Amino acid sequence: MTLTLPPTKKRLADVGCYMVGISSLPGFETISKLSSNETALGPSPQAIQAAQAAMETAHRYPELGTDALPEALAARFDIDPKRMTFGPGSDEVLLRLISLYSGPGDEVVHSKNAYMQFPIYAMRAGSIPVAADDDDFRHSVDKILAAVTERTKIVIIANPDNPSGTYLPGDEVRRLHGALAEGVLLIIDGAYHEFAAAEAYEDPSTLVHEADNVVMTRSFSKLYSLAGLRLGWCYGPPDVIDLMERVGPSFPVNSAASAAGIAAVEDRAHCERVLAHNGKWIALLTKALTGCGLKVYPSQTNFVLVQFPSASLAEQADENLKAHGIVGRKFALDDFADKLRFTVGLDHEMEAMIEVLDQFMARRSHDSAAQ
Ligand SMILES: *Cc1c(COP(=O)(O)O)cnc(C)c1O
Repeated sequence: MTLTLPPTKKRLADVGCYMVGISSLPGFETISKLSSNETALGPSPQAIQAAQAAMETAHRYPELGTDALPEALAARFDIDPKRMTFGPGSDEVLLRLISLYSGPGDEVVHSKNAYMQFPIYAMRAGSIPVAADDDDFRHSVDKILAAVTERTKIVIIANPDNPSGTYLPGDEVRRLHGALAEGVLLIIDGAYHEFAAAEAYEDPSTLVHEADNVVMTRSFSKLYSLAGLRLGWCYGPPDVIDLMERVGPSFPVNSAASAAGIAAVEDRAHCERVLAHNGKWIALLTKALTGCGLKVYPSQTNFVLVQFPSASLAEQADENLKAHGIVGRKFALDDFADKLRFTVGLDHEMEAMIEVLDQFMARRSHDSAAQ
């Protein structure tokens, strides 16, 4: 081989393929795709219209310096339009942030079962990902802090977290931030921020306002249902935002995404519909699957992580669901061997999934009783 990776990036050669949710099954014309945390209800009709209208001027580069998108977000969330910057998905924003604020020899601390892109992005930066233990799939502030050394440049958490769906209360996030040196950047990935309904959850923009070393990222892919258009942003200290912009792609956001994003945020009724549908099914799924004898992790997101009595049962259940055209997500990591993650889908998809799992678990207890 003639091309080799630089020494600091060697570990990237061993990265497994990021597992994209299966979107088709042989023998099925349509499937229930419960694998990628997308919104089953689809985008706001107004966002669709706005994206279509933006196509009229698609021969032009997206206008630079227009403040329509930051201003729409600032007005909606009562925050400062000067403290945000955008990218094609919050993933790109996370990668850019991690690449900027860490480099060779630096450590990036994350929880071991958190969002699986974090360690990859650290390696892209040439820095060293450090996986802290968690408390049964929930971030542990103590264990994260125990993993911090003087080489730590970044601590990153997703809150609420994916794939677990669990969250860290505001006082715990503040305890984590309070124990970090000022030179350590705390990144709070808020891809599921809008779904967090727990009393003790705190909007991270408050902490961003109070500190010089906190950045939150947000996504248009989940609540706003625009995953295919790729739009994400971050909110942080003005100097971080300024640098992010200067070193970012020339045109980070395409005109259709930008127009659709504004319309999506402004369509409060659509957001409320998605949230109501989601809240209903998170509660129903948790109750029904617990009733089948499964462990359901408490979720503040649009999905549930479900633990089966064994890895082989998780595997069989996955196969069983697929035989009915229902696709959840199985992660190829030891800690997830007995678990499946399911995104909230349409009513009929949820009903069918519960039915299949209920029958699967009932057969199993019948079989084990017969033995
Ligand atoms: C979906 C997701 C993202 C990425 O979102 P995009 O804006 O689509 O790039 C980031 N972090 C977590 C935890 C996610 O689940």
